[in-house]
Order: sequence, then C-alpha cells, then structure tokens
Amino acid sequence: MTDTISHLQCAKCGKSVDADGLWNTCPSCAKPLVVLYDLKKLKKTLKKEDLKKREPTLWRYHELLPIQDSSHHLTLGEGYTPLLYAKRLGQTIGFSGLFIKEESPNPTGSFKARGMAVAVARARELGVQQMTIPSQGNAAAAMSAYAALAGIKAHVFMPKDVPRSFVMQCVAYGAKVELVDGYLPDCARASEEAAKETGYFDMSTLKEPYRLEGKKTMGFELAEQMNWELPDVIIYPTGGGTGLIGMWKAFEELEMLGWIKPRKPRMVCVQSDGCAPIVRAFLDNKETAEPWVEPRTIADGLRVPVAIGDFMILRTIRESRGTAVTVTDEEIMEGLQIMSSHQGLFPCPEGAATFAAFKRLREQGWIKDREKVVLFNTATGLNYLHLWFKNP
Ligand SMILES: *Cc1c(COP(=O)(O)O)cnc(C)c1O
Repeated sequence: MTDTISHLQCAKCGKSVDADGLWNTCPSCAKPLVVLYDLKKLKKTLKKEDLKKREPTLWRYHELLPIQDSSHHLTLGEGYTPLLYAKRLGQTIGFSGLFIKEESPNPTGSFKARGMAVAVARARELGVQQMTIPSQGNAAAAMSAYAALAGIKAHVFMPKDVPRSFVMQCVAYGAKVELVDGYLPDCARASEEAAKETGYFDMSTLKEPYRLEGKKTMGFELAEQMNWELPDVIIYPTGGGTGLIGMWKAFEELEMLGWIKPRKPRMVCVQSDGCAPIVRAFLDNKETAEPWVEPRTIADGLRVPVAIGDFMILRTIRESRGTAVTVTDEEIMEGLQIMSSHQGLFPCPEGAATFAAFKRLREQGWIKDREKVVLFNTATGLNYLHLWFKNP
C-alpha cells in the first residue's frame, strides 16, 4: 500500500475533493482536477538513490503515482524510455547539446501508454467497468490495450480519417470503435453523450485526474537520466497539453522532495500553423485559448482545436520563461527526413515538429550555444506511413 496521496485539487478554483472518489472534472467549475501528494512525509522515507534498484518502467516512481494498492498496477513495460544524445542530428546545424527523449518504445508505440497505464489502473482500482474516449489515434490505442489488460470494456471515438493502423489496433484489443464524420471536438461530443447515457467513465485528456500522473513520469525520467540536472530547454509537441503540464508538475514535486535544484527548464510548446490555439493565445498574452476553426495538419496529435487545460499550458510556458512556436507541415516533413537519415530514428510527425521548432529557435538565438536541449519524439512513425507515400 502507498499512502502518499493527499487529495485532489481543482487547477482553476482550488476546490479540494477526496481522492477516494471517482471524479472527472471539478464539481464546482468543471476544470481539471490534479493529484496532490504528502511530499513532506515522502521526503523522509524515500531517497532518490532508492530508485536505482527498481524495475525499468514508470512504476519505479510508484510512491508518486496514485494507485493505492500495488496489486492494481498494470504493466506492459511502459516508460523508462531512452534519452538519446543526438550528436549527428545536432551537427546538422552545428549544435552539440541536443538530446531526444525517444518515446516510441512504449507499448502501443506512443507516450500515451504512460497516461493510460496509470489512469486505467486507477480506474480499475475505483471500480470502473466500461470507459470511453475521443481520440486522434494514439490515446485510443493505448487505452484499448490497457483496458484489455485490466478486463475493462473500452469505447473509442475517432475522426473517420485517422490512420487505419489505429482503428485496427483498437479492434484487435477488443474495443468498440466508432468513426465520426468530423474533428476531435465532434468525437468528444459523441463520447460524452455515450458517457452520460450509459455511465461509461470518461477518459478524455484532463477530464479525469490520473492520465496526467502517468505523463509526468517523463519529467521524473528526464531528471533521473540526466543525473538530477535538468536541461535548459524542453521542446514538446502540444495537443491537449498533458505532457507539458505533467512534466512541470513532476519538476515541482522533485523540487519539493529536494532531489533537484530550483532551476528548471524553459518549456517550449510547438504546434502546427494549421492548428495553433495555444501559440496564438501565448502571443496575444491571453490566459485561455479561443477554439481554432478548421484545424488542419499532418500531425494528428496536434490537431486539437480546444484544450480544457489551456490555462494550465499557458501558465506553465510563462512560469518557465518558455515560449510557443508554430511550424508548417513542410517543416514537419523536412524534420521527418532529417531525423531519420541523420539519427536513425523513425519519428512521428509530432516529434519531427519539435526538431523544426528547435531549428527555428536556434536560428533566432533564443537557444544559446552551450545550452542543453531535449526534444520529445512522442511516438513511432510506423503509424504514419501514409506521409511517406505522399512525399517519397
Ligand atoms: C497526443 C499526442 C501529442 C500531444 O500530447 P499532449 O501531451 O496531450 O499535448 C503529441 N504527440 C503524439 C504522437 C500524440 O499522440
């Protein structure tokens, strides 16, 4: 048993609720709930050296995860992915401090496995038997896989033009798949209706508190793999924003445990110029983002026109003294080619977007000579072969 979890708190209005309940969003204002831990207590019992002997999955950080009874952990080997020193890729623009957190070895081929391993495990612990999600592909595949492992029935709603490989994976895992004629918000409406009518648990990004906990482990790993000295800059492809928000939460927790120094990375949000609600809000000095009309980009994970956690993403970028940039689909394609041919990776378009953003920020001098920069390749490119057929 772990007893480090304290309570859940609304990220907007600050309302506290009991962590033993099955919650979606804040009961007062419908904004995201986040998990708080008793870190003072944990600081006395857990040392960072204790981690060394533990299994190479995200469960090595189990005291900082919300599952109360370890018999409910679900594992397919998620997390503890490689942090690669991207020497040759950096050399293409004469930069020696470039690293890539390579998320494609995760189960189902993307970092979405992190969030789902933890959230599905916690949902099972709280008695959930059926769950539903709107998704652009990777989240649906990951949820379906962990639901299969947990013996939970999965229902997924995806735009009808998502790559076939995602549809097939979900079907194979035993999920009920519905293809929707529209964008992600249309899928979200269909999924929400299903949840209301039937009582399925809604697993949408930041509409339940625990996927964020799984995603934050990227931050723990980065710290551990860099010997508890965080990089200067993190460049992250942002859709719903859980990765960015989650890593920042991880860094704050590590700081409170006294495992890292207060200096934290500047967080960079990358979006496509065909769907950039967060970048636009950042540049306009807004605290929330207006929905993006007609989202269009080859990077499906970035085709998120509305994010419930918009204010959390914007807060994170500003607090970290980071920035937000757009890249074009052409730059993403160029990034795919350079990362493949110069570093031996086969990235997803979202991962390629981080390289394109890195190049831009370096050219602008926003990234300095001796800085350390970490890009995130959030998924394998194998689900996006259609991009290569169009652009051989
Ligand atoms: C979901 C997804 C993203 C965006 O992730 P968030 O953390 O929700 O912003 C980026 N890349 C890929 C491959 C994704 O599937």
